Amino acid sequence: MGNEDLLRRHAAGAGGRAARSAAGAPGRPTLRTVVVTCMDARIDVYTLFGLAPGEAHVLRNAGGIVTDDVVRSIAISQRKLGTTDVLLVHHSGCGMATFTDEEFSDELAAETGTRPPWRPGAFRDAADDVRRGVARLRGEPFLRDGTPIRGFVVDITTFALEEISPAVEAG
Ligand SMILES: [Zn+2]
Repeated sequence: MGNEDLLRRHAAGAGGRAARSAAGAPGRPTLRTVVVTCMDARIDVYTLFGLAPGEAHVLRNAGGIVTDDVVRSIAISQRKLGTTDVLLVHHSGCGMATFTDEEFSDELAAETGTRPPWRPGAFRDAADDVRRGVARLRGEPFLRDGTPIRGFVVDITTFALEEISPAVEAG
């Protein structure tokens, strides 16, 4: 199934097309930005933002949530590969809104006998989680001071972007 299909497509020409597409592209992203988004299979990040190989770093995980590993990758992207900006993009209809952290951890514990040491990162409201993610990034000591960070929710049907205004600081 899946793996074999990919390898067949690679051999049948996809690998060569990737090489031609990336030909001459530098390793340092020319647009100097990092896009963090969900692994949702419907989101073609390159098409969504008109990106070409060599232009941006794209970090994806379940939900597009800001995890320790996302912070790790952004720190390396900024310090070693010269990026300056971060775009955080969640989407409507995200699977992460269909369960809770407790439910998923319970499910894994019941089936495997081990509770995951990590937080699954479920959320009810994509915009709220974008606000949370942006706030976390703003507070991260490992990102460069004053890093421009913008947060959005993309509509999974129209692919329109809604910008999410930052959380109002308490106090
Ligand atoms: Zn998603």
